Amino acid sequence: MTTTDKKIDIRLLTQEQLQQVFLDMGEKKFRAKQVYEWLWQKGARTFEAMTNLSKDLRETLNTNFVINFISEDKVQRSADGTIKSRYRLYDGHMIESVLIPVPSDKRFTVCVSCQVGCSLTCKFCATGQMKRVRNLDAGEIYDQVIQVNQQCLETFGHPLTNIVYMGMGEPLLAYKSLMESIRLITSPEGLNMAPRRITVSTAGISKMIRKLADDKVRFNLALSLHAADDAKRNEIMPINENNGLEVLMDSLEYFYKETGNRISYEYITFQDYNDGMDDARKLLKLCKRFPVHVNIIEYNPIDGSEFKKSSEKNIDEFAAFLIRNNVMTTVRRSRGKDIDAACGQLANKE
Ligand code: SF4
Repeated sequence: MTTTDKKIDIRLLTQEQLQQVFLDMGEKKFRAKQVYEWLWQKGARTFEAMTNLSKDLRETLNTNFVINFISEDKVQRSADGTIKSRYRLYDGHMIESVLIPVPSDKRFTVCVSCQVGCSLTCKFCATGQMKRVRNLDAGEIYDQVIQVNQQCLETFGHPLTNIVYMGMGEPLLAYKSLMESIRLITSPEGLNMAPRRITVSTAGISKMIRKLADDKVRFNLALSLHAADDAKRNEIMPINENNGLEVLMDSLEYFYKETGNRISYEYITFQDYNDGMDDARKLLKLCKRFPVHVNIIEYNPIDGSEFKKSSEKNIDEFAAFLIRNNVMTTVRRSRGKDIDAACGQLANKE
């Protein structure tokens, strides 16, 4: 359990555990509900703010517990409206979240992080060059949503409409925090957001995709595919060595059959590496087993990477081929490149 000065982080307790804490103190059970609402619905950062509790109770809570909120460290605004925020965690580590606004569509998406660093070393990704330090807890993921929602309201006069788990880290390796944060985001005691507005992105851990299916989740799943044959995928995403495409496709098909939720493939195109017609044909084959939406993403070169961004011509021809063959395809031009907020660029840089 996370402690600061030996105090317990109260947000790591479930509502049931909180009830027990209050009963042990000789307090009424309903206090747990009040405190829970302060923590998760009203975003209280201090016990002092919990004004419907007696002063004595607030002091007792303060003596025994701490509220480990994330705090804003730096905000960068891109010329295209994208906002990247860096947050300091209670133990001094940093993570980043990105607000991607599309005001014309009334679409405001936050991209959240779920680990400090990442263990998966995908070759094209700046986060993958950092060591994995630890998983975020559910509260630290939830706080990113709360803080960016506030930023969105202040900047655009609109709340967030979508949440993507595509920031730093692999969500399926922070499974407990992932599931608990989504429970909070979707629960009436939290943000009450619809699960279909949430997309979790994975580099492809087949065992965990099956677990999502067995857990009957209601959010969407995105696979960071980026190569449509094992040889190339092994080269750029080492996780593929033990989670080859055949096994991965089996797990995604299982996910689709069990949940019926939307699946998308994220496909970053690299010039003369995975953006040829042969690659497009291989990708097409992977789109036949279950309904899938392909997002083709423009690459943002990072320091030390051998890959280059695909030409417009290659991207257009690649997308046109898929569309001609009835695959739902969207080309996503990068957002926030000037502030290193684009896909694969999050690395806590100054
Ligand atoms: S792409 Fe995702 S899974 Fe791969 S190294 Fe980057 S953060 Fe980790």
